Amino acid sequence: MNIILLGPPGAGKGTQSRRLVEERGMVQLSTGDMLREARASGSELGRKVAEVMDRGDLVTDDIVIGLIEEKLKEGAEGGFIFDGFPRTLAQAEALDELLARLGQKLDAVIELAVDDEALVDRISGRYTCAGCGEVYHDTARPTREEGVCDVCGGTEFKRRADDNPESLRQRLMEYYKKTSPLIGYYHAKGLLHRVDGMKPVGEVAAEIDRILDEAAKG
Ligand code: ADP
Ligand code: AMP
Repeated sequence: MNIILLGPPGAGKGTQSRRLVEERGMVQLSTGDMLREARASGSELGRKVAEVMDRGDLVTDDIVIGLIEEKLKEGAEGGFIFDGFPRTLAQAEALDELLARLGQKLDAVIELAVDDEALVDRISGRYTCAGCGEVYHDTARPTREEGVCDVCGGTEFKRRADDNPESLRQRLMEYYKKTSPLIGYYHAKGLLHRVDGMKPVGEVAAEIDRILDEAAKG
């Protein structure tokens, strides 16, 4: 089963993806994570996208489509979770084409709906484990033991350079201008499911499980 998690920055896409990877053996394809890895490695691609990402703008379609194409070729038995991709209509059309070429399809697109005010709070409180990437929040989801990752026991944590109010404003603009039209695109294909992302993590997860179990029935 291949699914897209669609929603603004901070909606909970990464949090829910990690759980689906753990529980359903799916493979998470986060273009944001891939681009941050490229930056960390100091590659030419990483240098090219750094400024654009820090500003909160989208990188060009051909870059992210190329990244996704490479990963799709590797295959995934449990299916793919597209997290933060596609973000434009051109990316959505390219994904349709890539999947069709591989004899695959999308089974569901899950829109995580979250109010803008809540996004500001989520983004400003977000931190991740530097070791395993587990996603935490200062108040909504802190580590059980202060300074120690619940999952891997790591003691180093990171905050994203673009998780500041100025970049967030720009990222939200980009989302509403370029990404939110995808809601209509997938609705027209009969694939869209809207989930109330304001609910606690566990309730959002239960709702996603219900949708995926239903979609699996065919
Ligand atoms: P995205 O991948 O969509 O940008 P994340 O999964 O990284 O979003 O979540 C953003 C922040 O919000 C993180 O700090 C995370 O711990 C927190 N968060 C995620 N889901 C919820 C939720 N349902 N309720 C409250 N906080 C949440
Ligand atoms: P994310 O981790 O999904 O919040 O993405 C962080 C940043 O990476 C975005 O603000 C963009 O600059 C860039 N990015 C990630 N995915 C895409 C995409 N599909 N298209 C264009 N830019 C992207």
